[in-house]
Amino acid sequence: MTGGGDDSAVRVALRIRPQLAREKIEGCHICTCVMPGEPQVILGKDKAFTYDHVFDMDSTQDAIYTDCTEKLIEGCFEGYNATVFAYGQTGSGKTYTMGTGFDVAVPAEELGIIPRAVTHLFRGIEQRQQAAAEQNRPAPQFRISAQFLELYNEEVLDLFDTTRDMETRKQKSHIKIHEDASGGIYTVGVTTTTVSSEAELIQCLKRGALSRTTASTQMNVQSSRSHAIFTIHICQVRVCEPAHGSPEQDTETNNQPTSGESEIEEFETLTAKFHFVDLAGSERLKRTGATGERAKEGISINCGLLALGNVISALGDRSKRSTHVPYRDSKLTRLLQDSLGGNSRTVMIACISPSDQDFMETLNTLKYANRAR
Ligand code: ADP
Ligand code: MG
Repeated sequence: MTGGGDDSAVRVALRIRPQLAREKIEGCHICTCVMPGEPQVILGKDKAFTYDHVFDMDSTQDAIYTDCTEKLIEGCFEGYNATVFAYGQTGSGKTYTMGTGFDVAVPAEELGIIPRAVTHLFRGIEQRQQAAAEQNRPAPQFRISAQFLELYNEEVLDLFDTTRDMETRKQKSHIKIHEDASGGIYTVGVTTTTVSSEAELIQCLKRGALSRTTASTQMNVQSSRSHAIFTIHICQVRVCEPAHGSPEQDTETNNQPTSGESEIEEFETLTAKFHFVDLAGSERLKRTGATGERAKEGISINCGLLALGNVISALGDRSKRSTHVPYRDSKLTRLLQDSLGGNSRTVMIACISPSDQDFMETLNTLKYANRAR
C-alpha cells in the first residue's frame, strides 16, 4: 500500500536514559529492565512492553542515530518525507536525544540526532555529486533550506524570526498552515533559511534553539511546555535514473525535463522534508500543581500530544488508515500531516527515566508509545 517500503506506518523506539547524579544521590532505584537482545522492557515487576527498538541506559547517541534516523535521510534523497519525534516527560532525555539544545561545546560522541542528520545529509550530497563527476554525468543540484517553529498553546512561533520583542513577534505572527491540491502541507509567513553548507545549517539550529529559550523566558514559561519543530527541506534536481525495480516512485515526483539543460538527459525534481520534533513534556499537570495560566497551557499542550497519539494509532490500525486519520485536531498534527503515514517514514522515540520516582510517568509513556504499534 505504501511506497515507503516499510510496512508499519510508525516505528517506535524506546530509550532509557542513565540515572542522573541527583537520582543516584537521592537513592532512587532502577525500575526498568531490558532483556538482552530483545526489544522489550519490563517496568517494575511485570509490566512488559515490546517495541521496534529498545535502547537501554548505556546506549550511545551513535547507535540511536544509526538505528532510528540514518535510513530516513537516505529516503529523503529519494523523495520520501520523514519525521522523527521524541516523546516523554520533562527530564527524560528528549532534547539530549534530538540534539535541539544549543550547547556550544558538545563532544562529538554526545551529538544528538539533528546534527548527525545534518552531517549525513551534506555527506550524501557530496557523494552524489562526486559520483556524477566520476561518471561524467551532470551533477545533481540541491537546494537545502530550514525552518524552525515552536508550537505553544496552539500558537505557532517562528524561531528564525529575528524580532527580539515577544509582543511584536506575536502580533506579526500571521503564520498559516495550508494544504495544496496534492495533499502537501505548507506554511505561509514562516522564515525559510536557505543554506549551502553543513556549518551554516548547524548555525541555524543553534540560533533557533537559543531563540527558543529566550522566547520562553520572555513569555515566562518553560520551553518544556512547547513543541519545537526543526524542518529541513531538500530539493534535488537530478538526471532520471533508469528504473531498476526500485520501490515505486513517490507520487509527488514530477519528471520534468528542465529547460536549458542537456537535450538528451531527462531530469527529475525530487522534494522531501524532514521534521525533527522535540515534543512538549508529557507529564500530567497534577504533579507540578499547575493552576491558572499554566494549567491552560497544559491543556492545550496535551491537545497536541493527544491528537498525535490518535493520529499514530489510526495509522497503525489498518482498518482506520484508509478511512479517517484525525490530522486536523491540532496544529501539531496538521503541520506534520504529509510527513506522518502515507509515503513518509516516521519514527517515534519514547524517552523514559529508569528511576522509580518516575514510575507512573514512565508507565504513561510506555502506554502511549504502545498505541503506535
Ligand atoms: P527533556 O528534554 O526530556 O526534558 P533532557 O534532554 O534535557 O530532557 O535531559 C535531562 C537531563 O538528562 C539532561 O541533563 C541531559 O543531559 C541528561 N541526559 C538525558 N539523556 C541522557 C543520556 N542518554 N545520557 C546522558 N545524559 C542524558
Ligand atoms: Mg527538553
